[in-house]
Parts: sequence; C-alpha cells; structure tokens
Amino acid sequence: FINRVIHAHSTPYKLLALFSVSGGGLVAFSDSQAESGRHGVEPSQKESKKKLVVLGTGWAGTSFLKDLDISSYDVQVVSPRNYFAFTPLLPSVTCGTVEARSIVEPIRNMIKKRSGEINFWEADCLKIDAANKRVFCQSNLDANVVGSNEFSLEYDYLVIAVGAQVNTFNTPGVLEYCHFLKEVEDAQRIRRTVIDCFEKAVLPGLSEEERQTNLHFIIVGGGPTGVEFAAELHDFVQEDLVKLYPSVKDLVKITVIQSGDHILNTFDERISSFAEQKFQRDGIEVLTGSRVVNVSDKFINMKMKSTGEVFSVPHGMVLWSTGVGARPVVKDFMEQIGQGNRRVLATDEWLRVKGCQDVYALGDCATIDQRKIMEDILTIFKAADKDNSGTLTMDEFEDVIEDILVRYPQVELYLTSKHLPDVTYLLKDAQGNEREEVNYEEFKSALCLVDSQAKSLPATAQVAAQQGAYLSRCFNIREQCETNPEGPRLFRGSARHQFRPFRYKHLGQFAPLGGDQAAAELPGDWVSMGHSTQWLWYSVYASKQVSWRTRFLVVSDWGRRYIFGRDSSRI
Ligand code: FAD
Repeated sequence: FINRVIHAHSTPYKLLALFSVSGGGLVAFSDSQAESGRHGVEPSQKESKKKLVVLGTGWAGTSFLKDLDISSYDVQVVSPRNYFAFTPLLPSVTCGTVEARSIVEPIRNMIKKRSGEINFWEADCLKIDAANKRVFCQSNLDANVVGSNEFSLEYDYLVIAVGAQVNTFNTPGVLEYCHFLKEVEDAQRIRRTVIDCFEKAVLPGLSEEERQTNLHFIIVGGGPTGVEFAAELHDFVQEDLVKLYPSVKDLVKITVIQSGDHILNTFDERISSFAEQKFQRDGIEVLTGSRVVNVSDKFINMKMKSTGEVFSVPHGMVLWSTGVGARPVVKDFMEQIGQGNRRVLATDEWLRVKGCQDVYALGDCATIDQRKIMEDILTIFKAADKDNSGTLTMDEFEDVIEDILVRYPQVELYLTSKHLPDVTYLLKDAQGNEREEVNYEEFKSALCLVDSQAKSLPATAQVAAQQGAYLSRCFNIREQCETNPEGPRLFRGSARHQFRPFRYKHLGQFAPLGGDQAAAELPGDWVSMGHSTQWLWYSVYASKQVSWRTRFLVVSDWGRRYIFGRDSSRI
C-alpha cells in the first residue's frame, strides 16, 4: 500500500514511507567515517594487493565472493564448513524430501573458477582483534592434524558474515533436549530422530500412552521455519510413515507452540489465517499465547500468557525454532567495540561496523542501526522550525519531507510496513480532518513508535545475498569512487558519500504449508495461496540453486519423492 502511494509523490505518504524505513534507512556519515571510507592510499601501496579476510561461507559470504574483482585483493576465506548450504530447503531435508547433499555446494567448487586466487581455510574464527587488524582462527578438523591447528591472519579489510546461532532465551533444558534447525547436520539429526520415534512407538510392551508420547512432535515457534517443518513432518507421516507403521498411525500428534496470537505473524494476515485453517484441517494443533518455561527429556512445561496457568506436555521430540542470536565470536567482538548491549552487530548503511575501521558485517550477524537515522530526521525538523515554536505548518512539513528525501535518496520502503503502527494521526486529527500543523513531540513519538516496530531488516537469505552483492560492488569500484564518489550528499557540507548506501529490495516470501500447497507474499501486496503457489515455489527454488549440479539433484529428489516416496531408513 505504502509502496504504491510513495510513487504518487503525495507528501503524507512520503512521510509514512519515511517512517517505514527500517534497515534500509537513513544514516548520516560522520567526518571520521567519511575519511576512513575514502582510504587515502599512497601510490606505492596501490601496487600491492590489499589483504581481505572474509569470515563465513553462507549466503552473505558467498554472494560477496561471487562477483568480487579479486585483481586488487588478496582474499582469504575462513569458515568451519567447506560448503555453502541452501538453507531454505533444510526443512525438506528433515524428512528426506530432499537429500542433504543435494542442497550443499563445496566452497572449493565455487572458488576454483577464480583461478586459485581465493584461499579457503576450514576453521572457526575465534577472535577478532580490530585494534591490530588480525583474526585468530582454529581448525575444527579434529583427529590427526599434524602441526598446529591454530593460526592468525592479518587484514586490511575484514568482512564478517558468520551468520547467527539459535536463541534459547536461556530457557532451561532447551540446549540439552531440543533439536534446532540451523545447519545441515541438524536436519540430518532430526530425520533420524523422527524415524527413531516411530521405531520406539511400535516396540512391544509399551502402553498406549507411551506410544502416544513417543509420537508427539512439538515445534516451538510458529515462524516460517517451524511452520514449514510441521508441514513437512505432516506430509512425511501421512504419505509415507502411516503405511509403514499402520499400528500407530492414529497416535501421531504434531503441536506448534507460538507465543504470539498467530503463526506466521510476519506474513500477511490472509496467509497467517490460511495456514492456521489448513493446519486445523490437517490435525496439526496450534497452541498460541503460550510460552515455554522449561524442557526436560520427557516433558515440555508451558505457561499460558493470558491465565498464567503452567502445564506440562509429554513429548517424543521437540524442535526449537524461535529466532536467532549472536555467535560467541561476534559477542566477544561486540564487547570490544562497545556494542556489548546489542543483540547483533550494528553497522551503518554502508555495512561498516560502527566503532571500528575497515570492518564490514552483513547477513544475520549484523543489522543496520537506525538510531542515527532518527536523530537526523529530527534535526531536519528542528532546523525547519525557525521560530522554535515546536510546530511546522503543513507546507513547511512538506518541505522537510522533501529535504529528507533529497538528502537521502536511499529512503526505502520496508516491505512489511503494513505491520507497522498507523501514524496517520500526524496528518489527521481524531475527527479525521486534515491537520494544519505538525507538532515536534508527536512527530518524535511517531518516529519512535515506528522505530520500535521496524527494528531491523529480516534475518533472511534474501537480505544476506543482496548485502553480499552490494558490498562486492563497493569493493570493485573502490578506487574509482575515491575520486568520483557516487553516494548521496553528506548530511553536513557539500561533499558526497563514497558509495551509494545499501538498499534492500524485497522480492517476496514463501511459506510451504504441506499437501503440495504453499503461500506467497509477492511485491506489490500480492498474496497467492494454494497448489499453484507450490508450483511457483518449486520453480523459484529450483532457479535459485547456486549450481547446475545442485539444481539437478534437488529437482531429481522432488521427482524421486513423487515416484517412490521418502526413504524412511535410519542411516
Ligand atoms: P549463514 O548462511 O548462516 O552463513 C554463516 C557462515 O558463517 C557459515 O558458512 C558458517 O559455517 C560460518 N561461520 C559460523 N561461525 C563462524 C566462525 N566462528 N568463523 C568463521 N565462519 C563462521 N531465508 C530466506 O530468505 N528464505 C527462506 O526460505 C529461508 N528459509 C530458512 C530455513 C531455515 C531452516 C533456516 C535455518 C533459515 C532460513 N532462512 C531463509 C534464513 C537464511 O538461511 C539466513 O538468513 C541466511 O543463511 C543468513 O546468511 P548469512 O550468510 O548471514 O549466514
């Protein structure tokens, strides 16, 4: 909605669009950052290649490397996994719809095309020393490594793309007794556990209640991953396992626990209610408004938010899928640079880590900080309020909005803006009449309200890949932009930013719901649901594969499943 109206160039909606800025929002460039961004390089230094260290081979890291012009950089890549994993298909791996090896691409396959000029080291980065521009790493190859498995690398530029880890919110028992779905190994482990639960449930000598407990699958978190796993599991059970374990087919139960009021609450309401109705028809229980208090090997304890009642449910398997948090190396780095109180690393809109030089962070481990954006917007408002009355006429306000849009052409819509609070009260009074003046305090509180709702860009592959592509472009044109900066005007003065800021382009999102049905939210407020959307999902996910090899493997896995069903061996 906002997307459409911003193009109509009507001021009130420009205002709303401005409020809707999230991670793709406005940031002013401080003078010191401007200096560091231009990197005054001596001619002699230009001859030698700059040392560029990249941490991580996920969506952000590989997308950065894919188009990087390596002629001017000595590139070293560090990651504990020597492959890239196509994470959107991980839920399919949990039930054998797609095999694990079909969704991974060896990183050495990807870099061999770059004539050996990119070095890859299979190791964890344990510490970043920004003051001395060095990273400390340890190989995770356990047995029989001859020589030291620790090393350090010096860098001129560091790109942090290490992703995130699951967030347990310190809930007791979660680490010990829950499954997670972040890595390929997690998906393989879940697949084995599901089969184990069925094998246990059919053992002789068990009571009906014990069989039921073994077959109670609980998913904590009603976001896209939790919902997709529930749907995959339901299909696996109904299409394959009930035929193999007919004696217990009526005892299987799948429950999704969601602390909010609806599942898929970052999606359009229509999708959320379509999913809930479909799950109800499929017999998947959705428990909303409940929070998990602790988990043990046999029970999961929950608290109803409305009544405070605590109750216990026996389980055979629990999947914990409730959001992400920073990895230890990132937490440690955040402490060093004064960002210790944050959830993930804060960057500016050029993806530079705030508080240190020549370090960039992208993907799930970082977020673009909005505080500065808000401060700048308020400064512009105050500057326009020449008589210090605390209010602006609508004409003056219109100029302010124009000014903000001119200064920051990067103003971008945050596509989930329909979930943001309504701030039209700035423009209309309680009776719905157009206001004549806009008050500073109301303007500020509206900004804060929206800021609190639109905290950051979503932690998705789409954001990570776009950030990687953006950053590699900046690295490729670094030299030419030193003399011809391409970015918008600096907030103060007439100089320009070296590069254009990062702009996120939302291309839509899918939610596979099982039974060969999916829901999709597409740009322009389009919503599509049902069987035809599942075919759209197949074509998009096939086309997004990183190589022809994985594309072939994934498509043939889908075909194999149609013809032979899923493999239920526990290997
Ligand atoms: P990752 O892809 O997680 O990559 C991080 C990399 O860093 C990995 O190579 C890792 O091995 C490496 N690393 C970790 N620790 C270290 C260390 N100490 N030192 C060096 N390297 C390290 N997004 C979508 O847009 N659409 C979807 O449909 C979708 N579905 C998803 C389904 C599931 C089950 C999951 C888990 C995620 C899904 N996502 C989806 C989200 C998406 O996968 C993430 O947003 C994306 O992977 C983030 O990319 P990244 O590069 O930041 O992190």
